[in-house]
Amino acid sequence: MALANEHYLKLKAGYLFPEIARRVNTFAQAHPEARIIRLGIGDVTRPLVPAVVEAFHRAVDEMARAETFRGYGPEQGYDFLIEAIRERAYAPLGVDLRPSEIFVSDGSKCDTSNILDIFGLDNRVAICDPVYPVYNDTNVMAGRTGPADERGYYQGIVYLPCTAENGFIPELPDEPVDLIYLCYPNNPTGTVATRDQLARWVEYALEHDAVILFDAAYEAFITEPGIPHSIYEVPGAERCAIEFRSFSKTAGFTGVRCALTVVPEALTARTPSGERVSLNKLWNRRQSTKFNGVSYPVQRAAAAVYSDEGWEQVRREIAYYMENARIIREGLAAAGITCYGGVNAPYIWLKTPGGMSSWDFFDRLLEECHVVGTPGSGFGPSGEGYFRLSAFGDRANVEAAVDRIRSRWGR
Ligand SMILES: *Cc1c(COP(=O)(O)O)cnc(C)c1O
Repeated sequence: MALANEHYLKLKAGYLFPEIARRVNTFAQAHPEARIIRLGIGDVTRPLVPAVVEAFHRAVDEMARAETFRGYGPEQGYDFLIEAIRERAYAPLGVDLRPSEIFVSDGSKCDTSNILDIFGLDNRVAICDPVYPVYNDTNVMAGRTGPADERGYYQGIVYLPCTAENGFIPELPDEPVDLIYLCYPNNPTGTVATRDQLARWVEYALEHDAVILFDAAYEAFITEPGIPHSIYEVPGAERCAIEFRSFSKTAGFTGVRCALTVVPEALTARTPSGERVSLNKLWNRRQSTKFNGVSYPVQRAAAAVYSDEGWEQVRREIAYYMENARIIREGLAAAGITCYGGVNAPYIWLKTPGGMSSWDFFDRLLEECHVVGTPGSGFGPSGEGYFRLSAFGDRANVEAAVDRIRSRWGR
């Protein structure tokens, strides 16, 4: 008799996006004339930049000729991409990585999930609230939790509320934890952590022999100087942190698939008998066994992001999205709505006017402005009373959406 992984049954049904789709469809059917603008998505909308497309095409042509054809590549990624990442992404930050510390993959969603393979089940895990749901659900699947309570908190996870009151930076936990997920610039709140704020977490992790899982998927959207792009800008982080980065949002690779994970050689964890083991070695073993690398053309396309031409083109696309973010942020503020984020991240996290619930605001925005966003409560109980708008979209749509919101809520 085959037994199923019963931990999956503890997962709450994927509720947020299906429920949004259901409400939008119902509204659209009743109002076929309404021009609905969607600012709910967490996906890029602009095409790949020319330098990336050219490199992608060239690599496909290489695959078409016997002399330049390539089969399986290194599981960890090709040297040309790892070198580009070292020199163009990390060296300018003063972070000196060895090639063996960088692992190229097909996405940060998979890496932030798969990383759990190398950690024991008995680790206490701390997760921010609100949060990118992957961290939560993958710990449930791994069997690290009990059932969820009525709020959606799983037994056994330590939740770290992030609200306006703490500036969306979690307080250090008051019980010991071993694995800590942090994501800055943050999805969904669009807020960032300063160097000092990250340094407190690094200090905590070093003191408690904990590991920080740092998701930097949005680092390329940082516009203000002084905000760390990598946790390794904080001294000591190489002994307590794993960092995830992705080409998805940075360079429009959500449909192409390429990311990277940094596991420093100085990073260790304990066995139950107290012996220290290298997490870099374990991750290398895991990837070599379960993963066969990212396709050659995709890695060539990713490396082109770091060419002078590619980088300039990618920066222009990011600037386009960040101008959308500015229009949303300033437009809502002019309508008297309190907004967070949107300066160093492509998300605006707004406080619902008049203390409305997240879903009530969703319905009002849809019915009165024909604009779709994401209810904050869908990202965790501490997101209640907040709402996420995405800057990934077309300029004309963003402007129209903001005009509608201003004429509805403006003073
Ligand atoms: C979009 C996103 C990612 C990127 O995931 P990929 O699998 O690389 O596309 C990672 N973390 C967060 C928080 C995200 O929003």
